[in-house]
Amino acid sequence: MTKQYDYELIAIGAGSGGLSVAERAASYGAKCAVIEKGKLGGTCVNVGCVPKKIMWFGAGLAHALDDASDYGFAVERKGFDWAHLIEKREGYIRGINNWYRNYLADSNIQSIAGFAKFIDAHTLDVDGKKITANRIVVSPGTKPMVPDIKGAEHGITSDGFFELVQQPQRVAIVGSGYIAVELACLLNGLGTEVSLYLRREHILRSFDNMLRETLLEQMLDDGVDIFPRTQLAEVRKKADGKLCLVDAKGHCNDEFDQLIWAIGREPNTAGMQLDAAGIKTDGEGFITTDLFQKTSVDNIFALGDVTGRAPLTPVAIAAARRLADRLYNNQTNRHLDYQNIPTVVFSHPPIGTVGLTEEEARAQHGDAVKIYSTRFTAMYNSMTEHKVQTAMKLVCIGPQEKVIGCHIIGPGADEMLQGFAVAVRMGATKKDFDDTVAIHPSSAEELVTMR
Ligand SMILES: Cc1cc2nc3c(=O)[nH]c(=O)nc-3n(C[C@H](O)[C@H](O)[C@H](O)COP(=O)(O)OP(=O)(O)OC[C@H]3O[C@@H](n4cnc5c(N)ncnc54)[C@H](O)[C@@H]3O)c2cc1C
Repeated sequence: MTKQYDYELIAIGAGSGGLSVAERAASYGAKCAVIEKGKLGGTCVNVGCVPKKIMWFGAGLAHALDDASDYGFAVERKGFDWAHLIEKREGYIRGINNWYRNYLADSNIQSIAGFAKFIDAHTLDVDGKKITANRIVVSPGTKPMVPDIKGAEHGITSDGFFELVQQPQRVAIVGSGYIAVELACLLNGLGTEVSLYLRREHILRSFDNMLRETLLEQMLDDGVDIFPRTQLAEVRKKADGKLCLVDAKGHCNDEFDQLIWAIGREPNTAGMQLDAAGIKTDGEGFITTDLFQKTSVDNIFALGDVTGRAPLTPVAIAAARRLADRLYNNQTNRHLDYQNIPTVVFSHPPIGTVGLTEEEARAQHGDAVKIYSTRFTAMYNSMTEHKVQTAMKLVCIGPQEKVIGCHIIGPGADEMLQGFAVAVRMGATKKDFDDTVAIHPSSAEELVTMR
């Protein structure tokens, strides 16, 4: 520290990014603090990945119970205690919150509760108290958006979904991204009637078309009602508490217990006075950074969802650790490579995807693209009445057939992808895939035996 600041580094937000940068910087001896206005762990732990995945496991069990009789078990689904699962889920999350509390204390990282806003590039106001730092990392994440239409307040967002103490019987979800799709699939699996409203034609617009189409078919087969090209004009709450969605023609078509907005997320920077420090944002309010997470101000960095790039927990963590390695461990060129980031959609069945979609590859590489794909019913589902499709695609380019995209949908895709993402990142070719001995019997073996 060149001047006497309270801390060498302060992270605003104790989510995936903020915790990770403080943790790594402290391990190199920097005096660090993390400021958090809510619960330790941020979105992923409290209202994101963790509670979502627990609900996904629950829905997966419901499907497994339905399948059990096909394997000869005298098992029937005789009800589902939503409140029981929610209570256990929240207990698990409290355990993670406590773990972080102890971990921060053990790591000599000061945990400061409150809302941080900038006074200048080195000074923050936290609920009226001034705190200074040599370097500040801004990692406040994003928050769910709600449309600007009459009655929108009658709906909830994914945050509200995780607060539901009773299972809704009929739910409308508005949105087409991965959060909309995941909530639709898990609620449907747990026995709620689900209607999914899309503004345009497709779900998961940025994903490979094979993934989108296969999932759409499966969701329709599983009983999710999907309404493409729907523009909602108003939400009305009736005297009995039911919600009806009013279309542009003024028709109130159906009634629901709950409406979930899953139409996107916006930067969580309102009230932070970024201007006071000179921090620049893009047109949508995301903080702009260079390759090294540096903002428009030399001593201020931004990480995670607030930067608008690949909003995923491991991305925030990886960028954070690399930043601390660079600032406090002389790893001068260390930064996150934002290409080939693998991701999973926890739908039913799940999707695993890395690299370019077929459409992107064709746009960039034209005729040099070669596609290998397959579609089949996994052995598990050959016994079950409930049919689930598995589909896979490898996107390759050039005479070497370098694999630049790997897309999987089907049971197990979520766990399958990580290893293949390593191969894609290392520049593996189709021949490398072919030369790898298959694991039999498995679904994954299809990825190394495609012709
Ligand atoms: C429903 C849902 C499911 C998801 N599922 C997955 C998944 O399966 N896998 C995956 O990788 N990612 C998933 N994500 C995304 C993941 O949660 C985010 O990418 C990740 O949490 C981003 O980390 P972050 O550090 O940028 O922000 P966050 O984790 O959002 O943390 C930001 C923290 O900053 C605090 N904060 C904000 N402003 C201030 C302020 N001024 N002062 C003090 N504190 C402040 C907030 O309270 C918050 O705790 C999911 C997200 C959602 C919403």
